[in-house]
Amino acid sequence: MKLADRTTKIAASPTLKVTATVDKLRRAGIDVIDFGAGEPDFPTPDPVKASAHDAINHDFTKYTPAAGIAELKRAVADRYRADYGVDYSDGEVIITAGGKQALYNTALTLFGPGDEVITHAPYWPTLTEQIKLAEATPVLVRTHADDAFAIHASSVLEAVTPRTRGIIINSPCNPTGALIAEAELAKIAEVAARQNLWIVVDLCYEKLIYDEVPHNLPGVLARTCRDRTVLCGSASKAYSMTGWRCGWAIGPAEVISAAGALQGHSTSNVTSITQKAVLQALTGSQAPVRTMLDEYRKRRDQLHGWLTADPHLRCRKPAGAFYMFVDVSDVLSLDGIRTSLEFADRLLEEARVAVTPGEGFDAPGFIRISYATSIENLREGTKRLLEFVRAHAPREAAAS
Ligand code: PMP
Repeated sequence: MKLADRTTKIAASPTLKVTATVDKLRRAGIDVIDFGAGEPDFPTPDPVKASAHDAINHDFTKYTPAAGIAELKRAVADRYRADYGVDYSDGEVIITAGGKQALYNTALTLFGPGDEVITHAPYWPTLTEQIKLAEATPVLVRTHADDAFAIHASSVLEAVTPRTRGIIINSPCNPTGALIAEAELAKIAEVAARQNLWIVVDLCYEKLIYDEVPHNLPGVLARTCRDRTVLCGSASKAYSMTGWRCGWAIGPAEVISAAGALQGHSTSNVTSITQKAVLQALTGSQAPVRTMLDEYRKRRDQLHGWLTADPHLRCRKPAGAFYMFVDVSDVLSLDGIRTSLEFADRLLEEARVAVTPGEGFDAPGFIRISYATSIENLREGTKRLLEFVRAHAPREAAAS
């Protein structure tokens, strides 16, 4: 069957593929521990759910402006003002169906054929696939496990060519959990301002940062290149609202207006009910965010302890998000399990534990474990994982 060329340039989401396999096994009655899920396991906070009920009961169930209701755009701008001290007007905010659509609208608005767009690897695959959907070329700057996956301005700037049109930064990063340092971003911003490059920041995990480290990326960019910056955020992870589908993009009015036109001819507005719920999430008490973060921290520390007790597994505590990115290369061998993809497949088959292989993030040799699941699940799944590793690790590695 002949499909449009653009469909042949992109691959299905590897993370959603793991979710689909787990779902299939569970429907067949098989007990699977799911470390694949990229979503919080907490329920959406009650006041948020109550706002959605109210919206339905008050018949707030019709089209809204395609770019979102004014109160919600204001609430997003107010939250960023409160959190980062930056000033944006309603016309500089669009409400989108998740952070994913915010990033997609932005890519289609800013990038096109012949453009190069720099991002860092390991990466969340949607970022590079969206660059390709915009008919631009992704240029990858590698970050390294032994350097805590730090994003260095020098490596990003070395990748700039006359064709570079933009730089996409994801911080906290999925899958590595790394944060970009403000000083590194400031150096990138200076060059972006001078050379008229766009900076797009994926802040989807901005509320999930474990320590008091400076991470005022919107503030840094507003000082240096506000008119070249687009911030993409989401209610999904912060407020445990993945299924509601709501995110936002914040940037220059012209960009936001073009993104609004795109959205107006594709999906139109985010569900009216969702918009009311997210309005409550953003303007109400932020205590549920802290409670969830505290719980993730406990899980992270516990999981890290369990995994690093085995000398074949190497990982560090992530600074943000809820993924442990584990180097399993010491378990791999030519006459045993050869790749992390095979590791993940066999782990699911033999031990009934689902993880996402590093190949999906352009990081072969790694697996991503999501700890957005209960401590009981983490304990049981890790026990199975460690038994699997002991059974399959090459002998020499075990002895060293
Ligand atoms: N950015 C990153 C890095 C993500 O991991 C995700 C979700 N997995 C998103 C953006 C988008 O999430 P959503 O569309 O649910 O807001």
